[in-house]
Amino acid sequence: MISQQDLQELKFKTLKHFWGYDNFRDSQEAIIDAVINEKDTLVLLPTGAGKSLCYQLPALLKEGTCLIISPLLALMKDQVNHLKSRGIEAEYLSSELDEYDAEGIYDRCKDGLTKMLYISPERLTNKQFLQNIEEIQMSFIAVDEAHCISEWGQDFRPSYQNIKDFRLNHPKIPCLALTATATSKVLEEIKIKLELKDPQVFQKSFRRENIRIFTEEISDKFQRVFDILKFTNESGIIYVRTRKEAEQLSEYLRKNKLNNVDFFHAGLTTKEKNTRQNIWNNSDNNVLISTNAFGMGIDKDNVRFVIHYSPAPSIENYYQEIGRSGRDGKESFAFLLWNKQEILNFDQILKNQIPNKSEFLKIINYLYSIFQVAEFELPEKVFQLNSVGIQNFTKLSNAKIKNVLNFLHNQEIIYFNENKSLSSLQLLMQADEIDQLPQKDAYFIELMLRTISGITTHKVMFSEQQVSSKIGVDIHLIKERLKELQQKGYVEYIDGALSSIKFLKPRDERVINSAYWKLFEHIQKSKIQKWEEMKFYIEDHQYCKMKLILAYFGEKNSKNCGQCSVCEKNKHSIFGKNISDQITNILGKKPSTIEELSIQLSYHSKENILENLIFLLDSGKVKMLNFRTYALA
Ligand code: ADP
Ligand code: MG
Repeated sequence: MISQQDLQELKFKTLKHFWGYDNFRDSQEAIIDAVINEKDTLVLLPTGAGKSLCYQLPALLKEGTCLIISPLLALMKDQVNHLKSRGIEAEYLSSELDEYDAEGIYDRCKDGLTKMLYISPERLTNKQFLQNIEEIQMSFIAVDEAHCISEWGQDFRPSYQNIKDFRLNHPKIPCLALTATATSKVLEEIKIKLELKDPQVFQKSFRRENIRIFTEEISDKFQRVFDILKFTNESGIIYVRTRKEAEQLSEYLRKNKLNNVDFFHAGLTTKEKNTRQNIWNNSDNNVLISTNAFGMGIDKDNVRFVIHYSPAPSIENYYQEIGRSGRDGKESFAFLLWNKQEILNFDQILKNQIPNKSEFLKIINYLYSIFQVAEFELPEKVFQLNSVGIQNFTKLSNAKIKNVLNFLHNQEIIYFNENKSLSSLQLLMQADEIDQLPQKDAYFIELMLRTISGITTHKVMFSEQQVSSKIGVDIHLIKERLKELQQKGYVEYIDGALSSIKFLKPRDERVINSAYWKLFEHIQKSKIQKWEEMKFYIEDHQYCKMKLILAYFGEKNSKNCGQCSVCEKNKHSIFGKNISDQITNILGKKPSTIEELSIQLSYHSKENILENLIFLLDSGKVKMLNFRTYALA
């Protein structure tokens, strides 16, 4: 047993040695102490606060391996790479690894070499895992993004329910739960569903002192974004709603000579996404225009601004997204641009994507019937889903269909993959059987054998584009031929450009009809409720923006931030010499519009600037060049 003082020293030494930091942030140390003392612990800290360190550091100090449950493979990979680069032994298990690799990882855990093992919650029911874990000395269990256990949240992951049983089977192992999004209701749910015994709770105010929040009602948003970017040669994110918006805005800005912008959305290939994210990560003035596909796992500390080109669907989403700015603690800006027309449109869009019960069932039954899945059956295959087909049959909107498919995906009833990926091909016959096929088919298969090697023995990923340029045949023709061969049962072909779906649970009409429909209905209601709350937040002119957000997260009686758009407007004393001087200073360098002035003056409200300008115009110090631009007289 080491003394308290030695432990104290050891903590700091470890922090310095592996992370290079001199100090813990606010509550990190207290949390780490609780974990080291084997207490069940619940941590509620905002995004970017440094929650990972709260399990990573104790994992190093304690004997054995810490088991970390995380919802996303991308997050696990990110963290493990990070840890490895710091010289720390950490691993993750994913279905991508084959058994051999997994065995190697288990062995290193058994030998006490690997200090952290990241897994997804599904793994907790895997036989091989459960057998191996019995021989591994576990130090403690860390449940990251613990709010995923909450049934009503949009991040709900049914597999998080597996944790409870796992804990009951390992009653001596303490548990640390961490989350950034939780209302008091969700916190209670986490405590109960994770079986936290008399947990020590660490909860810090969600207030971010260094983020200045501005909401602006505006019709010409392109122009506004351009104005903001023109003067900020810094890193930022612009969130848009659709892929098309991301592309159009990026094109507009580039046309206007802003070359440090690019767009990012789920329609890009993994390679493109990685490249763009890397450029952005390593730059201090790159701006990504993105749908909400971009976000998870961002670990960049000098994001200086986040612009919401359109409102997020809920305050949770919104705050999470703007929370990606200013992780270094320096002043950062969040702009939300909105207008009434757009809000009405979103009301409509939201309403239109919610099917009634019979529509809900129609979509699901269609899926089971086109792929010929009988009651209680669970096919192994991955099917290709043609969305036009569902639309034609059900006569329902794409939005409703998507909503239901996403629901089924989130509930782990199906695995629905919309991402474009490489296609794959495997030959389903022996090579020597090819000769017996009709000549046309035999010829084409031979051609494929020569161009894509390996397909006789396993599934091979390939791109039709490359095959097309190699053999000089049109892409569409290649796809057509492969589909024909697939129908004849000669090959297994998956077209990467189509969505794919795999069933994860046996078909069960009764459950879909009752429990799942109820859950679906509930989630839709809660979506609407959240949007209503967001709308109030956007349109309100009276309350401090930060205060409204904190109230939403259950923090009562918090004080005004003094620096958001509402607080700025309520400061009456700004009108005066000070800002007039600043205005003349700026105009001395270059004639400017009010928008440009506003940005350079740390976003003072336009009314304020206008008042000062009128004063300067009246006193003859400033003149107007045209109806928008002002200059020194
Ligand atoms: P969270 O999970 O709470 O969103 P992370 O664990 O991802 O936050 O940490 C956010 C950032 O803060 C990371 O870049 C991390 O390296 C950094 N960080 C964590 N603890 C400290 C510390 N004590 N000193 C300096 N930086 C820290
Ligand atoms: Mg985290």
